[in-house]
Amino acid sequence: MGNRREFLGKLTASAISVPLLYSPTNLFASNTEPYDGPILRVAIMGLGSYGNRVAKAMVACKRAKLVGLISGTPSKISDWRAQYDIPEKNCYNYENFDAIKDNPDIDAVYVITPNALHKEQAIRVAKAGKHVICEKPMGINAAEGQAMVDACKAANVKLLIGYRMHFEPKTVEIIRMRKDGEFGQLKFFQGQSGFVIGDPKQWRLNKALSGGGAMMDIGIYSINGARYMLGEEPIWVTAQETKTDPVKFKEGIDETIQFQMGFPSGAVANCLSTYAMNHLDRFYMTGSEGWGEMKPSTGYGPIKARTHKGELEHPHSAHQTLQMDGMAQFIFEGVAPIVPVDGEEGVKDMKIIDAIFLAAKTGQKVEL
Ligand code: NAD
Repeated sequence: MGNRREFLGKLTASAISVPLLYSPTNLFASNTEPYDGPILRVAIMGLGSYGNRVAKAMVACKRAKLVGLISGTPSKISDWRAQYDIPEKNCYNYENFDAIKDNPDIDAVYVITPNALHKEQAIRVAKAGKHVICEKPMGINAAEGQAMVDACKAANVKLLIGYRMHFEPKTVEIIRMRKDGEFGQLKFFQGQSGFVIGDPKQWRLNKALSGGGAMMDIGIYSINGARYMLGEEPIWVTAQETKTDPVKFKEGIDETIQFQMGFPSGAVANCLSTYAMNHLDRFYMTGSEGWGEMKPSTGYGPIKARTHKGELEHPHSAHQTLQMDGMAQFIFEGVAPIVPVDGEEGVKDMKIIDAIFLAAKTGQKVEL
């Protein structure tokens, strides 16, 4: 790579005309090049398990920085303030965070709370004039997702969904291979996403907070994966639900759903989403000229991937580091990830989830 100014100059120029698509190579280039451009100053809302993971990974970011906190637990705020050197003036609770609109030192809020809270919280952030980064699932149905998209458009802020795999180098490489026709005509995708969920009292098993069970939490990876691996949008779904523990998995909390999706080209996907089985984190796809397998496919990594051409060797970095640097690059330079991470992308997954729930309930094929 030439000098940094030249590199950034080219980047900006290409972003103005055609947004630059990530490749695994420039993902790492952008991560290893020196950088003194704008920094995305982020407040995290919801200092739970995943919030912790994101905060730790952000320490290694070059283009994004954790600068603020939103939490209902004062002791967490003081622990995090000490750990990440966060000024008190950048800390809020769930009642007063609308005041963030008067804080010029925060650009974006990353919503990492239970699913059913995302919509209202994201809309409040948008109304405060800050960019919204929101965890998956973006809401609990497509109508909520669309309301979030509309609110962010009206407020003229970005809405980005925490699809970290869209920045993961082996995933990006397989998508590049697919776009370049290296698998030929794609025919079939198989996605297996699941784990055995523990504590029955957690919010993930409470419909009022989660909006659903395994599908909202982990099955969404197979939905999103089918779409980015095949490069098409499904036109129908069928689904079958199995429940072995109706006490733990109450009405509206899916334990295991198998689902199928059909695509305009004739390709089909067959997927499993479950809270009742371990060792399920695998994508497989086959086309007329080749095949790809990722296992693990969406865990925190390292991701393993191989194709008919051999093993992919791209080095591992924390997904959330790449994601947050990539999102900053998107916001400041218009450099688009290889697959979108915007609110519309989130709504596409939510529409499919709505259709899968309907198909599982009625036993009917649901057209999209
Ligand atoms: P968690 O339970 O560990 O954390 C949730 C946080 O929200 C806690 O700090 C909790 O105090 C706070 N909270 C605020 N209001 C709450 C309320 N009314 N009830 C319960 N908690 C409340 O959960 P998590 O694992 O961090 O998941 C949070 C979000 O992140 C979910 O949407 C989940 O799907 C998503 N997530 C994404 C990934 C990923 O890889 N992208 C991984 C894990 C979780």
